[in-house]
Amino acid sequence: MKKFVGAHVSASGGVESAPLHAQAIGANAFALFTKNQRQWVSRPLTQESIRLFGERLQAAGICPEHVLPHDSYLINLGHPEEEGLAKSRAAFLDEMQRCEQLGLSLLNFHPGSHLQKISVEECLDRVAESINQTLEQTRGVTAVIENTAGQGSNVGNEFWQLRYIIDRVSDKSRVGVCLDTCHTFTSGYDLVEQYDRVFDDFGATVGFDYLRGIHLNDSKKALASRVDRHDSIGRGLISIDFFRRFMRDERFNAMPIILETPDETLWAQEIELLRSFEA
Ligand SMILES: [Zn+2]
Ligand SMILES: [Zn+2]
Repeated sequence: MKKFVGAHVSASGGVESAPLHAQAIGANAFALFTKNQRQWVSRPLTQESIRLFGERLQAAGICPEHVLPHDSYLINLGHPEEEGLAKSRAAFLDEMQRCEQLGLSLLNFHPGSHLQKISVEECLDRVAESINQTLEQTRGVTAVIENTAGQGSNVGNEFWQLRYIIDRVSDKSRVGVCLDTCHTFTSGYDLVEQYDRVFDDFGATVGFDYLRGIHLNDSKKALASRVDRHDSIGRGLISIDFFRRFMRDERFNAMPIILETPDETLWAQEIELLRSFEA
């Protein structure tokens, strides 16, 4: 097993339940929310939760660098209005501090939305400034920007936008990106017919050095539809040939590869299938 594959598992009942869920599906990587993803404020992590999380992570044989926490969906680090921006920045800092407390090194987030009130570039500038402010106040956690499908007014759907943000982050050692295969496809990059071309483009525009994680999802929606609907591996419009090739591509060896596929009863099988594709 050369790759670190898992799923975005439940943390209901506390973050300490997540490593158990990962272990149960045969994962050696996973994603989780460290707080309720639909609320602004959550209670702080207890010492007991933090201790159990670390203990169970170790027992599952999963390294902290293969855990890819995801932030709350409410946060918009490129918010066009001061109040929304301040609230988002405070919540993002809290998310990053939770990762620090858990001994984790990555925090994955969707860059933001311009809400039709500012330009894409102005929104990206705000995202970069949000990252800078957060990194100044924390240690050891990398801000991992996820590419989006470009649905609504979400930014981050084109590779140049990811690069644009990175270029404006002061500490380049603590910024990276996560590619979601569903988002990549629906935002217009043809992973099915143009595998090499898409990743060559990514390499030239962003660079594989910045790639810190993958969300491995099939897509219910068409190429360039800009609609974000994940599907189970092999059941959507991204052919199984893509996933076979991906699992043999060594450029993706050193990072968490996370399923965010809709049917969690299939996760163990999906992981097994992906494993069977490894060279
Ligand atoms: Zn994703
Ligand atoms: Zn998505």
